[in-house]
Amino acid sequence: MTTTLPAYDEVVARYEPVIGLETHVELGTNTKMFCGCPTDFGGEPNTRVCPVCLGLPGSLPVANKAAIEATIRIGLALNCSIAQWCRFARKNYFYPDMPKDFQISQYDEPLCSDGYLDVEVDGELVRIGIERVHLEEDTGKTLHVGGATGRIHGATESLVDYNRAGIPLVEIVTKPVPGTGALAPEVAKAYVTELRDVLRSLGVSDVRMEEGSLRCDVNTSLNLPGQEWGTRTETKNVNSLRSVERAVRSEILRQASVLDAGGRITQETRHFHEDTGDTTPGRSKETATDYRYFPEPDLVPLAPDTAWVAELKAALPELPRLHRRRLQEQWGLSDLDMQSVLNAGAVELIEATVAAGTTPAAARKWWLGELSRRANETGVELADIGATPAQVAELQGLVDAGKLNDKLARTVLEGVVDGEGSPTEIMTNRGLEVVSDTGALTAAVDEAIAANPGIADKIRSGKVAAAGALVGAVMKATRGQADAKTLRDLILERLGVQG
Ligand SMILES: [Zn+2]
Repeated sequence: MTTTLPAYDEVVARYEPVIGLETHVELGTNTKMFCGCPTDFGGEPNTRVCPVCLGLPGSLPVANKAAIEATIRIGLALNCSIAQWCRFARKNYFYPDMPKDFQISQYDEPLCSDGYLDVEVDGELVRIGIERVHLEEDTGKTLHVGGATGRIHGATESLVDYNRAGIPLVEIVTKPVPGTGALAPEVAKAYVTELRDVLRSLGVSDVRMEEGSLRCDVNTSLNLPGQEWGTRTETKNVNSLRSVERAVRSEILRQASVLDAGGRITQETRHFHEDTGDTTPGRSKETATDYRYFPEPDLVPLAPDTAWVAELKAALPELPRLHRRRLQEQWGLSDLDMQSVLNAGAVELIEATVAAGTTPAAARKWWLGELSRRANETGVELADIGATPAQVAELQGLVDAGKLNDKLARTVLEGVVDGEGSPTEIMTNRGLEVVSDTGALTAAVDEAIAANPGIADKIRSGKVAAAGALVGAVMKATRGQADAKTLRDLILERLGVQG
């Protein structure tokens, strides 16, 4: 079925979106949630398993204290209340990637509840309510082979890997977020970005969306102004920050076209497709009753000591939003300039480049200029561009030492991004160093003067600005490997003119 989607601006002028986000975070503990199996990413399929995480009869789970501590720290960073007593619950469902045919999760007694996270969108602070933060175990992974899309449809075989089964997983659920209007997609993205930064600052997870250690489901509904909230859909496993924004936007447009045609929204899960940017229906949503939750009989209740919780709270690191404020002051940036640094995802990169010895202005210039442009062109996140803060600092060091001019530095940086090596190696290997041999430069200048007598006369008669043309000619002759300022001075000197 092909339908023409209405224009976004027009849709959000008529409908009010309500969004909600459920984020799953794999904790970076050494061992799994209820057994001693290792948790690192990768590894031969089904080698990091034991009777407990395979759910073999007679095996008993034991809760991982490091995972509980990490979850409490997340809850505290998100301004939640920490339960003084709570239980794990058994969530029953029959899926091939669930070896036990149930998942140990938390149901009506989450470890952390009722908090918030403030995010900035367009310079405005938006407070996102946090419903709950609870602890559970991850499922295994199924791999469908033989089909074109990697989906079960059209596959000839399905394989299952239980290495991931039992890795501690924290689920962070927001309260519904109404009132963001046209900004709903950006608010969703800003929330996941901020949450990722908070989790990273806590050091509880490597928060890699592409490896699935941070996974996001996005709930979206539409309603007419003054009416009840609409039926929501849940878009599953959105795998990048950019996709969070696209998934919300796409769902707003799709739901509007259904509603405009007099249709009803079905409560269902939907899959987001990175390639087309739209969603297709998955299964119709289970309700809590379908999962037949009951308290997990194999585990004792959790009762975190209040003194311990207070200790964890006192030891929380500076949170990203406050950290950014401090950096903004140190770097002397206006709100607008800081905003472009944030939008480019360059805060930590610039911070690390400055730590490696570069001035904030120079670090910002490279990350927001050349490298951001390249990231946009190739559609990758700036952090994955292939140049590290240390390399950018090294490059700027070469510029400061007069070995590279701006143009040559750009060429060298391209080489760094293309994986040719360090800035110094590329400069040396490709012979890109600025020509500082005055003898060679003087000869090139004299040649340019001889070849352009008209321009030389102009300069002699006082039109010093005409020197630019000769600088250009010498630059061309030296393949850009001269310092423009040095050249200009040399040209004026050879023509006997005061600069
Ligand atoms: Zn195990």
